[in-house]
Formats: sequence, structure tokens, C-alpha cells
Amino acid sequence: MRNLLNPDTVRRFKKLVEKHDHIVLTCHMRPDGDAVGSVLGLWHLLKVLGKNASVVVPDRIPRSLQFLPGVREIAVYTQYDPYCSRLISEAELIIMCDFNTATRQGELTPLIQNATCDKVLIDHHLYPDIPADVVFSFPDLSSTCELVCRLIASCGWFNLVDTNGATCILAGIITDTQNFTVNCNDPEIYEIMMRLLEKDVDKKRIVDEALKSTSFDALRLNSFAILNRLTIFEKSRCALIALSKEDLAKFNYQKGDTEGLVNEPLNIRGIVYSIFMREDPDCIKVSARSKADFPVSRICTDLFGGGGHLMAAGGEFKGTLEDCKNVLVDHMADYDKFLPKKIEKLDIG
Ligand code: 5GP
Ligand code: MN
Repeated sequence: MRNLLNPDTVRRFKKLVEKHDHIVLTCHMRPDGDAVGSVLGLWHLLKVLGKNASVVVPDRIPRSLQFLPGVREIAVYTQYDPYCSRLISEAELIIMCDFNTATRQGELTPLIQNATCDKVLIDHHLYPDIPADVVFSFPDLSSTCELVCRLIASCGWFNLVDTNGATCILAGIITDTQNFTVNCNDPEIYEIMMRLLEKDVDKKRIVDEALKSTSFDALRLNSFAILNRLTIFEKSRCALIALSKEDLAKFNYQKGDTEGLVNEPLNIRGIVYSIFMREDPDCIKVSARSKADFPVSRICTDLFGGGGHLMAAGGEFKGTLEDCKNVLVDHMADYDKFLPKKIEKLDIG
């Protein structure tokens, strides 16, 4: 396997881990499989190394990730503020995983950013702007978990990864690649999967729990969204799904119930990008996905104060759902220039 990591940076990371005992691992709010997988994967390794390690996250872990080994040991800031604050104040080293902007930690941001201990950033988003003593930033990699796996191997610690750690790391790779359907052209990702499976990981269970398990309500909500709340913008090759809080309430919405919904309209031949808007209590959450290198990250940065990857991005909008839709519709034509020169005929009957 190629060694992508700078040996000197790896050495400095290893030194920090060896030097410190109290280590806090942390990730972004509304954590996904890659965020939770990377912090828990490293946490299992640090335990094997005999460290006093803790995972502190901004908010709750979605139900689809509750099967991950170690998840019950995670300290959730919105639930145990004083405990999380104490762990952070006692930390000698903080390892930040899967985010590139400090504010993606929500209310946890000031605690982590004001901590004066040593810090490491491990991430695969474009343009990281978080100060840290050691930074691993690889936007070309499938996932932060792939990066974590490569880093562990570069440190010479891969033999210490146990079934639990390997399960968490593979879960992050599987969720960020949608079970090896996107960002998975690099042949080495399959070598990494092989090495993790050799640790007795149950891949089927990861796919079943993290990607497939749903509730009756959630299945109906997603079907309702596609049937009644999907708009196609033919000229811009855009699909938009917007769900109001009344829509969500009708199907007893639980956090995580619309995970993956944004991908569905991309299956329509000729659709180039898909935007999903959900009316959360505090903001309109925007998710975007695209094909053919269409830069949805630009739309999320320009219009919704967010960002992410070129073809998988997100953001937030403060205002009504109607206003949020209008912002997109009013600016949509500005992005038509990024559509591929040759596009399949739009298959909408
Ligand atoms: P999702 O649509 O699954 O919430 O996020 C897709 C991608 O966009 C992820 O890589 C995520 O890190 C990024 N992303 C989602 N929401 C935000 C946001 O509010 N701000 C920024 N900067 N990135 C986001
Ligand atoms: Mn990720």
C-alpha cells in the first residue's frame, strides 16, 4: 500500500500519543458513521495502548450507530455538560476527527478551541482551518476512517487493532462510501477493507445496522418525501426535497430517519444534483449530493454557510423553509455553468 502520510508528521503524532495519558477524542455535531467510527476506532486502540482515553461528542449518536462497540462510553455534551467539560479541562491531548471548521462542533466549539493542551486534527474535508499541533488532512481519501486506518498502520500499531476497533473503522468507511458505491475507485480501499475483515469484523452487521435498518415511520416518511415533496428543476438538473416540521411530526420523526434520503433523486437519469432541506427546531438543515463533479460544496458555502466535499456537502439556514427554498431557487441558474457539457436525457416521463 502507498504510504501517503508524511513520516515526520506521523512521528510527531506518535510522540504526542506516547507522551500523554489523558486523551480526548472528539468529532462534529450530528455525528455520522465516519465521525463516530473514527473517534471510537482510535479510542479502542488507545485503550489497548493503556491510555486514559475518552470520547466527547457535541450531541447524540443516531440510532443507526448505537451498535458500534464502545458507543455507551461516549460522553455527549448536550446530556452531560459538566462531565464533558471536566474531561476536556483534564485533557493533555485532544484528537479532533472528521471536521474542518471549528464551528462544526456547535456548542462544544469554545471548549475544544479554548483548550490549551496539545491538539491533533485528522480529517478528509477540503480547506481545514482549525489550529492544531499536528494536522492530517487528506480530502482525496474516502473517509476519515480510511485516514485513521492508514495512520495507525504508519505508526506500526495495526497489529494492536482489535475486532472492536476494526468494526468502528470499517463502519466509517462503509457509511461514507455508501457501502462502496461512492469514493471507492482507489483499489487500496479494498485492501484496507480486507485487512479490517481479517480482524473478524462482521461486515454484514455493519451494513444492516448503519445503512439498512429503519422503522416503519421512517420508511413511510421517506416514501412520502419522494412522492409529495420532490421538485425537479429541469433546466438546472436539480432535484429538491423539502420537509417541514409538520411533515416530520406526521411520521413521528426521529433523528437519523432521513439519513440517505438526499441520495435517492440522484438515481433519476439526467439529474445532476440533489438538495434536501429539513426544518429542524433550530435551523433548516441542508444536505446536498451530486454526480459528475458538480460542485454542491459551492452552493452550500455560498448560500447556506456550510461546505463539505465537492459532491457531498451540507449547511444550515436561519429562517423559514420557504425562504430557504427561495434562496436556492433564486440562485440556481448561477450554478448551471458547472453542469457537465454532455448530460444524459432527463428521465422524468
Ligand atoms: P450531510 O449532508 O450528510 O449532513 O453532510 C455531507 C457532508 O457535508 C459531510 O462531509 C459534512 O461534513 C458536510 N457538512 C454537512 N453539514 C455541514 C455544515 O453545516 N457545515 C459544513 N462546513 N459542512 C457540512
Ligand atoms: Mn467523513
